[in-house]
Amino acid sequence: MKHWTERIASELANWDVDQHVVASGTSISGSIHIGNSCDVFIANAVGKLLKKLGKDSKTIWIADDHDPLRKVPYPLPESYEKYLGIPYSQIPCPEGCCENFVEHFQKPFLETLPAFGIELETYSGFKMYHEGVYNDYIRESLEKTPRIREIFNQYREHPLKEDWIPYNPICSECGRVNTTTAYDYQGDTVFYRCQCGFEGEMDIKSGNGKLTWRVEWAARWKIFGVTCEPFGKDHAASGGSYDVSKIISQDIFEYPAPYPVPYEWITLKGDAMSKSQGVFFTPGQWLEIGAPETLNYFIFRSKPMKHKDFNPTMPFLDFIDQYDRVERIYYDQEEASEKETAKLKKIYEISQTVDVDSIPDNMPFQPSYRFMTVACQIGGNEEEIFEILRRNSQLPERLNHKEWMEMDGDDRERFIKRIVQVKNWLNLYAPKFVKFEVQTDLPQVELTDPQREFLLKVADLLENRDFTPEELHEEMYQILNELSLKPQKAFQAIYKTIIGKKQGPRAASFVLSLDKDFLIKRFRLED
Ligand SMILES: [Zn+2]
Ligand SMILES: [Zn+2]
Repeated sequence: MKHWTERIASELANWDVDQHVVASGTSISGSIHIGNSCDVFIANAVGKLLKKLGKDSKTIWIADDHDPLRKVPYPLPESYEKYLGIPYSQIPCPEGCCENFVEHFQKPFLETLPAFGIELETYSGFKMYHEGVYNDYIRESLEKTPRIREIFNQYREHPLKEDWIPYNPICSECGRVNTTTAYDYQGDTVFYRCQCGFEGEMDIKSGNGKLTWRVEWAARWKIFGVTCEPFGKDHAASGGSYDVSKIISQDIFEYPAPYPVPYEWITLKGDAMSKSQGVFFTPGQWLEIGAPETLNYFIFRSKPMKHKDFNPTMPFLDFIDQYDRVERIYYDQEEASEKETAKLKKIYEISQTVDVDSIPDNMPFQPSYRFMTVACQIGGNEEEIFEILRRNSQLPERLNHKEWMEMDGDDRERFIKRIVQVKNWLNLYAPKFVKFEVQTDLPQVELTDPQREFLLKVADLLENRDFTPEELHEEMYQILNELSLKPQKAFQAIYKTIIGKKQGPRAASFVLSLDKDFLIKRFRLED
């Protein structure tokens, strides 16, 4: 069974080219989030698969940093409105920590990529224009303006003006690029008018201007020899950017358009991600709460045009459970139908940050993320959390009889990483009802007589012997039935005395997570 990225790679492998270049690009209009970095993840996967098929291939990323600022990104102040229309490359760093606006937003993004196993060559649109990479393409486009206009007009309701030119100079007066209209050219000189009232001329060799987007995109394909490019579905609409750039690529630059991989947006809790409104989630934020493989899994588990919604709150726990299940299926530790098994094993493989050959032979230690959200609120350090897992039968067989110190390096590393992720999740995204604090002193509680009786009996139980969570659960039910106490009331007594709340984690495993002597004293309501 082939994964969709493998199908793309094997189709491309049949192309008669010396080298495959899989391109991705991002507009640097603010924080780069998981929605608009999908093309980077997909491009990287396809590029690597081509290599696996024995093809020469590389993945590139182009920062669209010569584009104008259209909306002030969150969390920048309104005063940034004065930069609207100005290319990102010319806007200062909002916090004065970087060379400019572009570096400020692209650095945190690029820095996270190695963690996801992404390797790419990076380029800057601004630099390309300034280094003259586009010069010949600009000249060619100017000469072929009538044909380009014709191509554009095929898809337009209102045709472009007769003096339209596929090039936008940056106004030398106000610095904006989306307010200028070029109306004529002579050699390398372009004549333009700006909405600010300025009228002037510029030399294309200065780099102070840019090709109209759809022409620029096509030029870029030929410049880099791009053979495949993933892009957001907005470019994929019928008569949209890709359709138009494809014709321009073939007709104007005589270069075949790359293999397109359109993808659907990722929504955040049902809302469209928006850099200007601060509704976004970045790969860096992901790494705070989850392993890099889990974001890969999120992107690669379904086809690119399938809608994806991300919710970092409670649904994230279900998501991680799901990933862990896929991992168990990959290592034949859990059964699923033959078809599902084949499919999930493939997705797991694609989601790893290492090559298939480097995937460990034995299943990594997989402490339950969900359970750890409880354990991490009780245990003070890694060793204590490890013991809480042991008392709750949450350790795999191979660790069951081992001491914390005897854990091997990979298991320990994975465990510690998950503790950090879980703690971050608790701090950043956990709803209130999940959070609790074990009270060092007995809280002021009001309990009914049967509730007190229940606690005393549980204390006796714990004093006598050790239990598994299932055994304790059963024993507690027996006691509460004998006392004609509703389960809810009985467990409330536990939560009230330990965390001073009416609700808490599942009672039996919660009790087993706590220190026995502490519990016995507490259930006997001793201070
Ligand atoms: Zn900065
Ligand atoms: Zn101007």
